[in-house]
Amino acid sequence: MMSPLAICISSGLSRSARYAITVGAGVPTLLCAVGLFCFVCGGVKAYNRRGRGHSISEFSSRVAPQPTLVMGLDGPTIESYPKTILGESRRLPKPDDNTCPICLSEYRPKETLRSIPECQHCFHADCIDEWLRLNATCPVCRNSPPRSPPPQMS
Ligand SMILES: [Zn+2]
Ligand SMILES: [Zn+2]
Repeated sequence: MMSPLAICISSGLSRSARYAITVGAGVPTLLCAVGLFCFVCGGVKAYNRRGRGHSISEFSSRVAPQPTLVMGLDGPTIESYPKTILGESRRLPKPDDNTCPICLSEYRPKETLRSIPECQHCFHADCIDEWLRLNATCPVCRNSPPRSPPPQMS
């Protein structure tokens, strides 16, 4: 059991002790933190100022390669797409589109057409072969052919 005076003294002491600790430890810590903050800020600013273009080009070169992975199809895959040789009747899988979307000219009898199985769009075989070697997507609807299915089904 402590007397009220003892409690008063001890709490006073502990308060001043706490104050001393706060000042003694807190001020250098604060100074340290401020110094560190300034140092980090200055460093970041200097880094940004000095190496902005470089760091961004480095960053994008690390991130960029993904889109370039989308490449054209190989010959056998293109060859596996159904080919149609137009007869005199110019019978088409889709009679309403009789123009090649790639070269924008009408299909003529005896021309070889190729259609993309995914979406049934058809093109001149020559046109779509060239296209598919560079792009693995249908030039009309941008659907990827079955070889590279979309990651999520929605
Ligand atoms: Zn064409
Ligand atoms: Zn298509």
